[in-house]
Amino acid sequence: MRYVILSKGDPKSEALKHKMMCHMQDFNMIEDAENPEIVISVGGDGTLLQAFHHYSHMLSRCAFVGIHTGHLGFYADWLPHEVEKLIIAINKAEFQVIEYPLLEVIVRYNDEGYETRYLALNEATMKTENGSTLVVDIDIRGQHFERFRGDGLCVSTPSGSTAYNKALGGALIHPSLEAIQLTEIASINNRVFRTVGSPLVLPKHHTCHVKPVDHGTILSTVDHISVKHKNVNAVQYRVANEKVRFARFRPFPFWKRVHDSFISSGESL
Ligand code: NAP
Repeated sequence: MRYVILSKGDPKSEALKHKMMCHMQDFNMIEDAENPEIVISVGGDGTLLQAFHHYSHMLSRCAFVGIHTGHLGFYADWLPHEVEKLIIAINKAEFQVIEYPLLEVIVRYNDEGYETRYLALNEATMKTENGSTLVVDIDIRGQHFERFRGDGLCVSTPSGSTAYNKALGGALIHPSLEAIQLTEIASINNRVFRTVGSPLVLPKHHTCHVKPVDHGTILSTVDHISVKHKNVNAVQYRVANEKVRFARFRPFPFWKRVHDSFISSGESL
């Protein structure tokens, strides 16, 4: 079994990574940062986001596991004291893999034929570069839906619905649903300007285009990565064909993770 461990870099995560690597040697597991079958992140959900982007070019060939050295995470759901159990489970038999949907983002520029493509595990956002009002036209499935004015827009995956999307009042969506969610960030709503005001959940076959109205410079984030784009014609959002694969060694249902993260970790659902 070829593996790689990515750590958050703090002393606790580094010590756990070192301990795990010693155990891995006992099982004749091979460290392979180029072509791992299993990618283990040690830290938090933020560390797993970084690991995902590092290996996003080979998603069909690797499976992710997250260990948290801080608080319980949505992707990082193994505890430091469980690592021996985890390593034995990795080596025991074929493990179960569960797949979660991803968001595809394509930024198209006014220079014809030029575009940039991203995959998001949590979400992508669009804002202006200087904090001024974002003015964009939103098309859904080729039909004009609304002109949005406000701080920005957030388009999230089901597994990312518990992150920034939740803070924006979006719904929590079970990751078995192949969908994306479009959420407003502080829209301007008065007698002159109007937006729908509710988060929209789009199925896999519905594509959303967001077109800047005034000028084509936007600040776009994809998970923890922030990029300024100039001369943008439109940004396309849809459910990606690719999926992220998580190695599962025990059941930990999504709603239990939601309960334990946001309600109480002491009681069971
Ligand atoms: P960060 O600002 O250091 O961390 C943001 C927080 O979001 C961390 O507590 C992180 O958990 C948590 N998180 C990440 N993915 C999550 C998920 N799927 N469900 C629930 N919580 C999750 O930034 P970062 O570590 O680089 O992560 C980038 C993410 O921050 C973005 O994808 C976005 O979702 C989130 N964010 C949230 C807000 C907000 O809630 N107002 C604003 C901006 C960005 P860990 O501590 O376990 O890493």
